[in-house]
Order: sequence, then structure tokens, then C-alpha cells
Amino acid sequence: MKINRNFDNLVPNYLFADVARKTAEYAAANPDKKIIRLGIGDVTLPLAPVVVEAMKQGAEELAHKETFKGYPEYEGYDFLREAISGYYKSFGVSVSPDEIFVSDGAKSDCGNIGDIFSQDNTVLVTDPVYPVYVDSNIMAGRKIIYTACNEQNGFSAMPDESVKADIIFLCSPNNPTGAAFTFGQLKAWVDYANKNDAVILYDAAYEAFITEDLPRSIYAIEGARTCAIELCSLSKTAGFTGTRCGYTVIPKELERDGHNLYATWYRRQATKFNGVSYPVQCAAAAVFSEEGQRQIRENIAYYQENARIIASALDELGIYYTGGKNSPYIWLKCPNGMGSWEFFDLLLKEANVVGTPGEGFGENGAGYFRLTSFGDRESTVEAVERIKKLLS
Ligand SMILES: *Cc1c(COP(=O)(O)O)cnc(C)c1O
Repeated sequence: MKINRNFDNLVPNYLFADVARKTAEYAAANPDKKIIRLGIGDVTLPLAPVVVEAMKQGAEELAHKETFKGYPEYEGYDFLREAISGYYKSFGVSVSPDEIFVSDGAKSDCGNIGDIFSQDNTVLVTDPVYPVYVDSNIMAGRKIIYTACNEQNGFSAMPDESVKADIIFLCSPNNPTGAAFTFGQLKAWVDYANKNDAVILYDAAYEAFITEDLPRSIYAIEGARTCAIELCSLSKTAGFTGTRCGYTVIPKELERDGHNLYATWYRRQATKFNGVSYPVQCAAAAVFSEEGQRQIRENIAYYQENARIIASALDELGIYYTGGKNSPYIWLKCPNGMGSWEFFDLLLKEANVVGTPGEGFGENGAGYFRLTSFGDRESTVEAVERIKKLLS
């Protein structure tokens, strides 16, 4: 008996464990200090009232013989796929309900989608990167190449014609850097993928945070339907991190190696996935209703204002950063050439503020630091005051 030895190639990542340990040690030694956490990558505001009502209604239907539901459809209920399609239409993108797969979240789909591709493909990711793209492909035994995001390219890497990649992971607005692609930049990736017979796996988990005139979906780009799969989630958009619901779009015309990718993924899902629970799909559909959109927009606006408060402090301090405007993340350059962990320690000890050292997301994250806007307003304002006092 042999296990999957690719697991031996995973590099242990102690980032969040180390952050938690250092924070706990400091808190234990300094019980009088009020520590503010701006490192969290999880939402904190509750679900919108219409969403909760829909979830309750869904549960109620399951309680009666006449309305009881068994296994859902593999690709999600029609009513939810129709709602998602309508949502795309609201920002000018045409995605048909029968190109949508409802799932229990984008992380699962990011990891699972690799099932339909050969192990022999070369995977391209950006550095810094959301670790799921890297680790899931190490587990599958694929070769991974990295493209650098840095201050020179504003943390938005562009395709390199001399590099041959088969599968490309893009995330915009980006976690961890907050940087978002322009229409022109994304078009360059689409053109590269079509020309090189590659597939783009486009993670749009933060599309709802876009405030400027930037693509909210890769399908806003001409040519994307023949090269891109889009993964999206209600986690950050509607506070579904604990409720679990996402969706993946595979255009019907997307083909590679003589195979239709929609049909291949359908076959995979039908074999390994039995769908998302009915009450959760009811809740998800409520997100896309008029009232649902109004309510979730209030929460997003709250986080966006937190991001603006953090970003404007960095502007005052003259610190380089990306994100904040179209993203809940602010990715800043540690002042005075400090390393990520050095800055982490300084911020923890002198301002009692916790963030996330950038080097945990890849080599190019060294010397950078991630702050998030998912905290409450009062703490965010106080953290920013402390940071300003410390650094000015
Ligand atoms: C939070 C996040 C997701 C969402 O994952 P879920 O499994 O849907 O909660 C996807 N991609 C990125 C980059 C994220 O940060």
C-alpha cells in the first residue's frame, strides 16, 4: 500500500499558526493591552435578514411531506442558477444558467477542478498567491511555475510569451494584494490563453468589492468564453463563509484536447459531489434578489469604508500599497525596509495591532504586509490611529 507521495512535496505553511502563537504569547504577557486584529480573512457581519428568512423557509419546506426535497441536482437548482445568471446580466455579462455549477464554495472548486486536467500540465500561478492554487496542484503532482508580482508591475503580473503554461490561476481583485486587473490587462491574459491552448481558472471571489471601472467577470473580456473557467463565491460577497455556497461557470463552447470541459466537469461532479443543501440554495438565491442585493451592499459598503480608512492613513504616511479601493485587502510595503515579520513584531508590540506578514504568501511577499477591512469600524479606526502615531 502506498500513499500519494506528492504530499511529501507540500511545504509546511505555519503563517497563520505563527501569527496566532505570537499574538497569544504577547497577549498573555500583556493582559492590560487591547489587541486589534486586522489580519483576519473572514467576514464578521451577520447574514442579511432576507437571506436568513429564505434559509428558514427552505428548512420549513423540508419539514413537510408535500414540499420535502431529497438529493438536489448536481449543478444546482434552476431557481438559483437563473438568479446567478441574472446577477451577471446586471453588470453586462452574459452567462447562461446552464453554464453554471452551484457548489459549496470556491475553495473546493479551485482544488477539485484539477480532476479534469492531466497531471502533465504546467500550472502558472502568481507570487504572492492564495495558497490553495499551489497546494492542490502539488498534491496532484503538477509542475508549477511562478510569475512575479511586485512594485514594478503594481502587483498585477502580465503574461510572458516566452513561458509556456497550460493552466493559469488568476485572482482579481487579488487575495492577498488587493490589486485588480484592468480590461486591457485581462485581455492580454485571455489572448495568451487562446493562443497557447491554455485554460485560465479565474477566481472572482472579490468581484463585489470593485468600485472602479474594472472587469467584474472574465467574461467581460472578448475571447474569454473559449479559454476561461470562472470561480466565484458568496463567502465574502454575502457573508457565506460559514453557510457555504459558491458557483463555477464553464462556457459550453470551451473545449480542450478534443473534450468539452462543461461535460467533463459535469461528469466529475455527478461522480464525486451530491450538491448543496436546499436551505442554503434558497438563502443564496435571496442574495440575488433586489432586497438581498440592497442588504448585502450595506455590509460590503461597511467593509469598503474600513478599507478606505486604512488606505487614507497609508496615503498620509506616504506608504506604498495596493488594494483597498476594489478589495477588502490592503497590501502595504513595510516602512524603512523592514522585513514582514520584523514589521509584524513592531506593530504587535508598539501598536497592539495584528496583521499578516506578506512572505507567507510567497517570495515576493517578503517586505510586504496584509491588512484587512473585515474588522469592526471602531477597532479599525483605533488601529489606524495607533499605526499613524507609531509611524509618523
Ligand atoms: C475567501 C476566498 C475564496 C472563497 O472560498 P470559499 O470556499 O467560497 O469560502 C476563494 N478564493 C479566494 C482567493 C479567497 O480569498
